[in-house]
Formats: sequence, C-alpha cells, structure tokens
Amino acid sequence: ETLDKGLEKSKTNFFSKLSKAVAGKSKVDDDVLDDLEEILVTSDVGVKTTIKIIERIENRVARDKYLGTDELNQILREEIAGLLSETNVGEATDFEIPKNKKPYVMMVVGVNGVGKTTTIGKLAYQLKKKGLKVVLGAADTFRAAAIDQLQVWADRVDIPIIKQDMGSDPASVAFDTLQSGVNQDADVIIIDTAGRLHNKVNLMNELTKVKRVMQKVIDDAPHDVLLVLDGSTGQNAFEQAKQFTAATEVTSLAVTKLDGTAKGGVVIGISDQFKIPVKYIGVGEGIEDLQIFNKYEFVDSFFK
Ligand code: GDP
Repeated sequence: ETLDKGLEKSKTNFFSKLSKAVAGKSKVDDDVLDDLEEILVTSDVGVKTTIKIIERIENRVARDKYLGTDELNQILREEIAGLLSETNVGEATDFEIPKNKKPYVMMVVGVNGVGKTTTIGKLAYQLKKKGLKVVLGAADTFRAAAIDQLQVWADRVDIPIIKQDMGSDPASVAFDTLQSGVNQDADVIIIDTAGRLHNKVNLMNELTKVKRVMQKVIDDAPHDVLLVLDGSTGQNAFEQAKQFTAATEVTSLAVTKLDGTAKGGVVIGISDQFKIPVKYIGVGEGIEDLQIFNKYEFVDSFFK
C-alpha cells in the first residue's frame, strides 16, 4: 500500500485519463487508440515504447475483430507487464544481495541532483536492517557537497564511510574503500561515483579507471553498476540512460522521485528501451522511501 501511495500521482493521472478516453465508447476504435497513444506519451513512456504498445493492441483488435473498452484495461495491463518482463525479474519483494559474492561491490552512477546520494543512503539502511555489514565509498570527489552528503547518510545509517579530500582521485577512493571493506569483512560495498556528464570520453575514462583499480582488490568487481535516474525528468532520464550505457556497462537501474511526478511511465519506457532491469524506485525523501521494484505491483498501481 506504500507503493500505491508513492505512485499516487502517476496512478490517478494515467487511470483517469484512460477512463476519460474510453467513456461512452463500447469498443476500441481508432479514436480510442489515438487517445491512448497520447496518454502513454504524456506519461513519459516514450515514443518508441508507446508505438510498440499501440501496435500490440491493434494486433489484438485485428485478431479479435471486436475489442470492448472494458477489456482494454486488462489488455493494457498484460502488454505493459509483458514489456516489463522482458528485462525485469521484478518479482523480488525484499532487499537482498547475491550470497555468493562477499563483499558484494556496487558502483553507483548518475548525474548530480537525480537522488544518487539519497538512494545510496536508503539502500544502505535497508541492507543494514537485513543484518548486512555495509561500507560506503565517497568516490564522487568533484564536489565537496557530494562527500558531505554521503557522510550525513553514513552517520544517519551508522555505517563506515571511506573518503578523501575533494578533488582527489575517485579511483583511489574506490581502491581504499574496497581494501577497507575486505579488511572489515563487509558484506556490501557501495561506491558513489562520477556525478558529472562533462563529456562522454571523460566519463568513460573515469568510470573505466575506477573499475580497473577496483579490480586490483577484487578481481570481478564491481558486481553491479547501478544507474540512478530521476523519474520526474522524462526525456532527460532517457538521455542520461543513453549516455551512461554508452560509457559503461550498466547492470541495473534505480528510478527516483516517482512520488513527485504524474509520469511514472518513464519506468516502462526505460526498461523496454535499454533492457536493463529496474531494481529500485524512490518514492520520497525519507529513509524508508526506497522500494524494491516489483513489476506486478507497479502495473497494478496504475490500474487500480
Ligand atoms: P544527488 O546529487 O544525485 O546525490 O542527489 P541527492 O541524493 O542529494 O538528492 C537530490 C534531492 O532529491 C534531495 O533533496 C533529495 O531529498 C531528493 N530526492 C531524492 N530521492 C527522492 C525521491 O525518491 N523522492 C523525492 N520526492 N525526492 C527525492
């Protein structure tokens, strides 16, 4: 029920627009499909994914000859869940990390302001609550505020943080953090990195170097590269996903600020287009406001 609450805006928006589009109609015709297309695009599902969904529904209309508007909800639900299934395991209900990697190393990337630090803090809190030993590394060394903010979260969650002065080499901080994590017998190491999208080559070089140096300590690190995207920024989030996936191998996504937007559709479009699973969603500023992404709950929250 917390998910429903967090996604209130998206839900009300999507569902009420859809209801309006089909009001007074008994079957799905071209007008309904046009309206649906517009609703999906304005919910930030993205044009490509919207076209895909519309085509799938058109195919069903063609096949079944007659498609009642009352069936449209159910079919949309199935189609959206189907798209999410292609990339999202999405059945997890609890914060977990693979047990066969210790320490499990997560490298977190994303542009400043998307909620990267907050997501790391919330995630560390959840993992600690599960009894795991978590160590943070402040390798976003470009801004003093980034280091300070991560420190605030480390204090709040009461876990160790490894940091150096602003302007120091991110790879060096990552190296220290992994060594410290190994020495402390940590279960999870979360490294905050590069918050700048200065240019693609620099970003790629920086992330590649951080990875290479990590591998001097743990040869298959990082085990997860988590890209944090702000769900309220629509096309910007798509653009950032494009740039980061070009710069490094991103293995999972966190989409934040879904509480403050009527456009939760970005989750659908991004997981469809980038084929990277959405693992976490941010639904508020508080320490408890991070949720495991569960595709069934997510789809349901749109259609309730
Ligand atoms: P960073 O620069 O990417 O590290 O961003 P921060 O973690 O400092 O977050 C930027 C702002 O977004 C802060 O004011 C956070 O409280 C806020 N924020 C982060 N995640 C969420 C979220 O899921 N929902 C809301 N409403 N605010 C969030």
